[in-house]
Amino acid sequence: MLRVLMKKVVIIGSGPAGWTAALYTARANLQPFVLTGGQPGGLLTTTSIVENYPGFPEGVDGYELMTRMQKQAERFGAKASFGSVEKVDFSRRPFALVVDGETVEADAVIIATGASHRHLGAPGEDLLETKGVTYCATCDGALPVFRNQPLIVIGGGDSACEEALYLTRFGSVIHLIHRRDALRASKIMSDRVLSNPKIKPVWDSVVTEVFDVKQDKVTGVKLKNLKTGAESVLDCAGVFIAIGHAPNTGIFKGQIEMDANGYIIPKNGTMTNVPGVFMAGDCSDHVYRQAITAAGMGCAAAIDAERFLAAQDR
Ligand code: FAD
Ligand code: NAP
Repeated sequence: MLRVLMKKVVIIGSGPAGWTAALYTARANLQPFVLTGGQPGGLLTTTSIVENYPGFPEGVDGYELMTRMQKQAERFGAKASFGSVEKVDFSRRPFALVVDGETVEADAVIIATGASHRHLGAPGEDLLETKGVTYCATCDGALPVFRNQPLIVIGGGDSACEEALYLTRFGSVIHLIHRRDALRASKIMSDRVLSNPKIKPVWDSVVTEVFDVKQDKVTGVKLKNLKTGAESVLDCAGVFIAIGHAPNTGIFKGQIEMDANGYIIPKNGTMTNVPGVFMAGDCSDHVYRQAITAAGMGCAAAIDAERFLAAQDR
C-alpha cells in the first residue's frame, strides 16, 4: 500500500517566498513541510551577487542567501523534501498532493512555485539548448566554449542586463539584442550596460533563427530589424536568452483561479479561491518580482495560514 504523509502545512517551492513562509510557520509551531521542486533555492540560485536584498550592504551571493534562508527555517523545525508536486486535489479536505508518485495530505497549502524562463520559440533554439543556447549566464557563462568568443544576450530587462554584464568577463564582445529601442531594465542596470564598452546593443531587433543545427552547436543567429524588416546574420558562440518568466502554475489549472497569463489571483490577502490554500511570490506577482517582495508575501501567507488553521481548531 502506498504511504500517505499527513502534514499541517505544506509549502510548494523553496525560493524566497517558500523559505520565508517556512520560517514563519515553523516559528508558529506548525512544522511546515517544504517541497523544494526541481530548483532548490529557486531562481536566485542562478544569479551571482544580489545587491538589493536588505541587510547585506556588500551584496550577497544568490546561492548563499538561499542556503541561509533554508538554515534559518530549519532551525525552527521546517523540514525539506526534494520533491516536485505533480498533481493536486484541492476539492477535498485534507488537501491531497501527489509528489513524485507519493501522496502528501495537508490541512493548509502555501503555493510558492515562482516562475520559469520563457523560450523564444525560434527555430534551432530547442535543438541547440546546452549546445550554445542557454538561459543562465551564471550557470554556463564560464564554459570554455564561450571564452573569448562573441556572445549574444536576448532581452531588455534586468535579467538580460545582468547576464550581459556577467558575460563581459568571458566573451570577446556581447551583443545585446532587444526588440525595442529602450531597455525595460532599472536605471542602474541600464546605465551599467550602456556604458560598458564590451556590450553592443542591437536595437529594434529579434532573433528569428539560431544556427547551426547541422553542426550541432551554436555558430550564429538570424536577426530581423522590426523597423526596417532587414535581415542579417550575426556570428556568435553562445545565445543567452533572458526574455522573462512565466509562472509555474500549470498543475493548479482548473482548481485555483488564475489570470490569462497563469498568475494566481489573490483573494483577501494571500488566500486563493480555495480556503486553506494560500499563495506567495512570483507565481502570483507579475508586477514587482523581487526576492524581497516574494519573501514579504511568504511571511504574509504564513500568517494567513496560521490564522486559518487556528480558526478551524476553534
Ligand atoms: P522562485 O525563486 O522562482 O522559487 C520557486 C520555487 O518553486 C523553486 O524552488 C522551484 O523548484 C519550486 N517549484 C516550482 N514548481 C514546483 C512543483 N511543481 N513542486 C515543487 N516545487 C516547485 N530579485 C531581486 O530582488 N534581486 C536580484 O538581484 C535578482 N536577481 C535575479 C537574477 C536572475 C538571473 C533572475 C532570473 C531573477 C532575479 N531576481 C532578483 C528575481 C528573483 O529571483 C525572484 O523574484 C524570486 O526568486 C521569486 O521568488 P519565489 O520564491 O516566488 O520563486
Ligand atoms: P522582464 O522584466 O519581464 O523583461 C523581459 C524582457 O524580455 C523585456 O525587455 C521584453 O521586451 C523582452 N521579451 C519578452 N518576450 C520577448 C520575446 N518573445 N522576444 C524578444 N524579447 C522578449 O523579465 P526579467 O528581466 O527576467 O526580470 C524579471 C523580474 O526580476 C523583474 O521584476 C526584475 O526587476 C527582476 N530582476 C531584478 C534584478 C536585479 O535587481 N538585479 C535582476 C534580474 C531580474 P519588452 O521590454 O519589449 O517587453
